[in-house]
Amino acid sequence: MQRILGSRGEHGVAMWILLRFGLGAFFAMNIMMCSLVLYLSAPGDLPPATIKGIHLVLVLLSTPAMLILGGPFIIGAIRDFKRKRLSTDVLIITGSFTAYGISVWHYFIGKGHVYFDTATMLLLIVTLGRLIEASAKSKTSRAIKDMVSLIPDNARVYRSGKEIEIPSNEVKKGDIMLVRPGESIPADGRIISGECMVEESVFTGESRPRQCRPRDKVYGGSVNCDGMISVTATAVGADSLLTRMQQIVEDAQNERAPVERLAERAASVFVPFVWLAAAGSGVYWEVIHHNPERAGLSALAMLVVACPCALGIATPLATCIAIGKAAKSGVLIRSGEALEQLHSVRSIFFDKTGTLTSNRLMVSDIRIAPGSVTLDEALRYATTLESASEHSIARAIVTAAEARGCAIGKVTDFRVFPGHGVAGNVALNGTTKQVTIGSLKLLTMEHILHEDLADYDYADQLTTVYIGWDGKIHAAIKLKDSLLPTAQEAIVSLKELGIATAVISGDRESPTTRLAGEAGINEMFFECTPIEKAEVITKAHKIHKRPVAMVGDGINDAPALAEADVGIAIGSGTDLARQASDVTLMGDDLLRIPWVISLSRTTHRIIRQNLAWAFGYNTVAMVLAFFGYVHPLIAATAMLASSLMVIGNSMRILSNAECGGGEVVGDGG
Ligand code: ADP
Ligand code: MG
Repeated sequence: MQRILGSRGEHGVAMWILLRFGLGAFFAMNIMMCSLVLYLSAPGDLPPATIKGIHLVLVLLSTPAMLILGGPFIIGAIRDFKRKRLSTDVLIITGSFTAYGISVWHYFIGKGHVYFDTATMLLLIVTLGRLIEASAKSKTSRAIKDMVSLIPDNARVYRSGKEIEIPSNEVKKGDIMLVRPGESIPADGRIISGECMVEESVFTGESRPRQCRPRDKVYGGSVNCDGMISVTATAVGADSLLTRMQQIVEDAQNERAPVERLAERAASVFVPFVWLAAAGSGVYWEVIHHNPERAGLSALAMLVVACPCALGIATPLATCIAIGKAAKSGVLIRSGEALEQLHSVRSIFFDKTGTLTSNRLMVSDIRIAPGSVTLDEALRYATTLESASEHSIARAIVTAAEARGCAIGKVTDFRVFPGHGVAGNVALNGTTKQVTIGSLKLLTMEHILHEDLADYDYADQLTTVYIGWDGKIHAAIKLKDSLLPTAQEAIVSLKELGIATAVISGDRESPTTRLAGEAGINEMFFECTPIEKAEVITKAHKIHKRPVAMVGDGINDAPALAEADVGIAIGSGTDLARQASDVTLMGDDLLRIPWVISLSRTTHRIIRQNLAWAFGYNTVAMVLAFFGYVHPLIAATAMLASSLMVIGNSMRILSNAECGGGEVVGDGG
């Protein structure tokens, strides 16, 4: 049916429910009108034949209404039944179809009340709840869906030496794409020539365009504002960042949170309990008060009022809205569970390079061991090797060499020592050397340190890397990294939220101390290997017994990101870091971390309110129904009010402050 309506996904679901709701409402309104005639007439006003006639009309109107509105619930109940589970769908079905069944029976035997209005109203209201839930979901995920339309229909690529235009979905990895000013980029890739400003607010939530040069990465769906660029496609279709982002959000929204699974398990106890209570209420009125009519009425009201519709939507709706809102602000949350964990995080560990500092480091000084090589030669070996590395140190070295116009050679056997450096065979001027670049710790394992470079490191608090081959260290490069503009403010906001912060770095003590000091962080760990980073997280978790979060960008952060209760990856970091994380920040605005924690706290609070309200409502209403104080029709109306309360309350998440205005939403309670 969704296919007939021509729309898929959340939107299709919402349209399909809307159609059923519209048809059901038509029947229900007519049923209400006919029922009103019966309610408003005093006993004896209408001749029995007229009453019988009205009852027949009611049977004819309500039968299709029950099928149209009840169908999906029956299917749901049967599906759960097959899995040997009792779900809330069962309650909806028993409530409405008991009312319907009793009414049909009363019609045929020609005496007793009919409750066709209650039966159809109940289903109509539950359907309305589902409709509102579905359209809220569809609205929050539409923004992300729309992103795919950002990919242009056609792409211009070079094939066999010619520039041709092909549909964007036919672009292959390795194709060279030509993007003119003002055009959208068809697939993820790396710029090979040209410079431009790229507007990528879908990924970063940041409206300011980013200056991109050759070797920079650009993403399909972002807009080339002003330059002419050629881009080698590195990821297309399902592998592209845009599609993966959309997938993550969709999966998270559809995934069942632990609370939801709990509600399901509770239902299997709750359903038989309701049946027993309804039977008990009937027996109570029949045996104690000898009032068979009241007995039927209260048992029925009990069944109707027990439908835990509000309970069913209390958690998923709020979670879904929050994940959608976060995605719009450039924070991708992988699961409802991660969102839930975030609210109770009490300590956050930050990686240094590329996370607290901008990933654009600058080479500030190079020193050559006297009598070994020329500066250009050292730089050429370093650049050739680093051109194979993703690390921000590597990028800085390559940029510095390019500025000096150094030609680069070929690298083979490239190896990464996460947290230490890189090595490989570099072919330059016809000779091949085994070059290693990295921390002093890595280099001293196999290379002799020239005494002139020995005291170089301690002079200031900059990051220093060493370059060695043929058993000797030939040069050292100092790099300056600067704190991200939002780092300080983010740390202050986190402190205000009661969250402790610390730095864990693979770098040496002095640069780490300087950066931590600038950021306002007191606790730090330095010269950590990837495994040691993960161990710090484990220990912190054991000591504080509270969820711990880790923010990182590099390959060397992946174990710690996976170990943390909530791993937060910096979007511009490595794929491995993103894969190991539960949350990805698009762009590098660290203020989004306190923002998303506040969002998760707000969501948690709203879910708790929803659950308290829904449980409270059900309990009170069931007690009232047991003692016969609730007419089935009133029960159905009260249920609508209760569901609307939960929906309205969940919608408040949407009105939470946007991220980016520098303002961070407070917990508020
Ligand atoms: P952080 O943990 O602060 O992000 P990393 O663990 O990424 O830092 O790096 C730690 C150290 O390892 C760096 O200070 C540097 O000495 C060395 N290193 C890592 N990767 C490279 C590389 N590609 N080139 C040179 N040195 C590197
Ligand atoms: Mg790092």
